[in-house]
Amino acid sequence: MRLPVNTRFLTVFAVLLFGGFSCLTLLSVLRARDLMERQITASTLPLTSDVIVSSLEHDLLQPVLASGLMARNTFLEEKVGRGETDPRQLQTYLARIQARTGAITTFLVSERSRRYYHPRGVLKTVSPADPQDRWYFRFREAGEPLEINVDRDTADLRRTTAFINVRLQDGAGRFIGATGLGLDMRVLQEQLQRTQSRYGARILLVNSRGRIMLASDRSSGALASVPGLAPLQNRILSSPGLSLRFREQGREVYVRTNRIEEIGWTLVVLQSPSGEMRALSDLLMQNLVAALLISLILLALAQATLGREQQQLAETARTDQLSGLLNRNGFEGLFQQLASQARRRAEPLSLALIDIDHFKRVNDGHGHLVGDAVIRHVSALLQRNRREADPLFRWGGEEFLVLMPNCPLPEAMHRLDTIRAELARQPFQTLPAEAAADPATDPATDPRTDSGPDSVPEPATQPATDPGPSAGPIAVTLSMGLALYRPGESSSDLLHRADQALYEAKRSGRDRLCLDGDGPLEPASSVAAAGQGPGPTG
Ligand code: GH3
Ligand code: MG
Ligand code: MG
Repeated sequence: MRLPVNTRFLTVFAVLLFGGFSCLTLLSVLRARDLMERQITASTLPLTSDVIVSSLEHDLLQPVLASGLMARNTFLEEKVGRGETDPRQLQTYLARIQARTGAITTFLVSERSRRYYHPRGVLKTVSPADPQDRWYFRFREAGEPLEINVDRDTADLRRTTAFINVRLQDGAGRFIGATGLGLDMRVLQEQLQRTQSRYGARILLVNSRGRIMLASDRSSGALASVPGLAPLQNRILSSPGLSLRFREQGREVYVRTNRIEEIGWTLVVLQSPSGEMRALSDLLMQNLVAALLISLILLALAQATLGREQQQLAETARTDQLSGLLNRNGFEGLFQQLASQARRRAEPLSLALIDIDHFKRVNDGHGHLVGDAVIRHVSALLQRNRREADPLFRWGGEEFLVLMPNCPLPEAMHRLDTIRAELARQPFQTLPAEAAADPATDPATDPRTDSGPDSVPEPATQPATDPGPSAGPIAVTLSMGLALYRPGESSSDLLHRADQALYEAKRSGRDRLCLDGDGPLEPASSVAAAGQGPGPTG
């Protein structure tokens, strides 16, 4: 199927417009996403991780150092290694350390006596059977010099204590107990939560065994249980620092890790720009809708403008410039329309061909400008006397055609006769200037002058059609051929019959109306003398 040029143009226009807008939108969204990713990996994640590391250093490293000092303290080694003869001394020592470090508690467990010392005295004796004391026996077996345990208060979730356990050994390297201090992690915990809500970053602090010790969202358990992290756990735990990225449930997750050697923990910061992504896809949708609307508006404007222009062009193409009447171009369409209407409604459709008699004489005698003016004069008269529904065409040089829908022959004949009578009453009036100014008055110099038998200017014996170049009235007469449409016949057949009738009118003396198939119909207003013209034209 071939689309009309107009539709093709509008389709291409629409595709280019919407495609262009969409490409631009897509490009800018992709660019924005790229920038956002760079912002996250190059700025947000490192910044978040630096902030947390420095807080950790501030909150944990000092106490870790203090615990280290406790472990290397010969006083403790002596007191514990050689039997705790004076528990009060140990108690005082622990109270002093607590006061200096700001810890919430300090402790010491002797391997020999299993006593648990506390700044306020001996709290209890640890036992492998007591779940609360399991940490001690695990620590003893692990053989690590230092361990940090985080204990969450199940009654008060905000209360989180980090216990720094250090190994006490005698001079021979034998395990003689564990000492250390307990720190309130509330401030750090709150900072993690604040950071998460401000930057949308999830923060995990993981020990060397891959257990989550602290988290901004209070998650706990194994690092591998965090969705998407199981395959990355080994890399995370074995590397001092990483920048990673993975997809989880259709969204991008950016990871930055940082090992804090002093405490053996790894900081894991996870960021998923889902909010920003949503904002970007919202933007994309909004832009596409806007692009669609703008395209539609421009399309409608283009269509309206093109439609108007095309209508004007079509109008111009169908209009005769000299007379302002329709020209042949519009005939076939209108005829088909009226013919089918006539068939449908069983109405008569009449067609008349009208030709100016001896028009060449007007041209030859008065010049072509006058000839043109005569054509306009006749056109105007035909125009005034037609019904609104009757299309009127300038069919050729001095020939006209009128279609008369729903007009039976007698009425058509009457109308045509009226026109001829009108014309007889209103001869064309030349102005002196018109006659004098026309350079084509001399027929010898007129390129359009016919070379046929009619081309010789008639002598003054024909005053009705040739008043000479002087100013004054020029009597103009018309010959007409009328035919009635036969349902089903083609326009050319009907035209042929009308032409035959016109021929008959010319042949039988001009200035008359002939009906197809009949002889000439003598009009009351006829002034033409029979046998006046040399023969038919048209
Ligand atoms: P007949 O009575 O047999 O119709 O004679 P005629 O002279 O009218 O017929 P013919 O067809 O031989 O001449 C028509 C002339 O009309 C020929 C041509 O030069 C002239 N003509 C055609 N178009 C125009 C026009 O636009 N302006 C002028 N001034 N003359 C035109
Ligand atoms: Mg003529
Ligand atoms: Mg003619």
